[in-house]
Amino acid sequence: MTTTTTPSTKAPLLQVRELRKHYTSPRRWLRPAKPAIQAVDGVSFTVGHGETLSLVGESGCGKTTTAKSVMRLVEPTSGSVRLNGEELLTLPANAMRQRRRDLQIIFQDPYASLNPRLTAGDIVAEPLRNFGDVSVAERRERVQWLFSRVGLRPEAAKKFPHEFSGGQRQRLGIARALALNPKLIVCDEPVSALDVSVQAQVVNLLMDLQAEFGIAYLFVAHDLAVVRHISHRVAVMYLGHIVEIADRDTLFSAPRHPYTEILLSAVPVPNPRTPARRLLLQGDPPSPANPPSGCRFHTRCPMAQAVCKEKTPELTERPSSSQGGHWVACHFR
Ligand code: SF4
Repeated sequence: MTTTTTPSTKAPLLQVRELRKHYTSPRRWLRPAKPAIQAVDGVSFTVGHGETLSLVGESGCGKTTTAKSVMRLVEPTSGSVRLNGEELLTLPANAMRQRRRDLQIIFQDPYASLNPRLTAGDIVAEPLRNFGDVSVAERRERVQWLFSRVGLRPEAAKKFPHEFSGGQRQRLGIARALALNPKLIVCDEPVSALDVSVQAQVVNLLMDLQAEFGIAYLFVAHDLAVVRHISHRVAVMYLGHIVEIADRDTLFSAPRHPYTEILLSAVPVPNPRTPARRLLLQGDPPSPANPPSGCRFHTRCPMAQAVCKEKTPELTERPSSSQGGHWVACHFR
């Protein structure tokens, strides 16, 4: 069975179909046009209400561009993004701004994403002010509640971002994202800039908030241990394509795509008696401006055969007990 949208077991909230983001450089006089960089090239997935779908892959695979395209922080080249059935990509700017109430983002670098001139209270209150339908007293009360809900003391609202630790700053980012009761939060590497000891606290906070408010997360990460902890389903990206999607347990215990197998073999084994079987990825990733023909992974795949160079494998559902299906783009798996 082949489809363009891999389903979730939960009622669909976000449906992304054939999403593309190609970057073109302006043509210069007397110089040939440079080929477009195919950062994201035909990506389809679904995120259900209250579900976490993680996007994983090497740097440059297109996971962050996919997440930002969903939010229209970069304008996609083509495709469809539906939130609760409503198409977002054709919405005028003003209507899109209104939909941002339902669609928030937490950035990787909590310090760079917070305005250093505003107090923490003003930062968290900013979305409430921008959407302007709450009184000053309600806003103050809501900010205090958000501070305590993310584990910050309400008195800290008077401080400036530089007075907080990295983990506290990320809690501020989470409080700001929560302010408007969003249905979906895009988490763009939200813990990768934090100390390991703080990462678990922030991940557990995100999971608690999801259980309490039913928020869905589109979670972009390269740390597979974090992904395993927080995800319901996982999509693996390579050079702008999704090559495998399955529920978390199936993907980690029975990966099918050769690229996924190699990625997962790098995850440390907690039991020292279990021998680690580390597989090595050969060579550097090809340029997204000139991706390989056929299967984009064929230049690095240990299983590649002649057909892999000629024919692009479709993302196709395989027989599996994986909830929501197990989808793989490979001619032989
Ligand atoms: Fe490897 Fe061929 Fe499968 Fe691509 S289609 S992952 S090159 S075996």
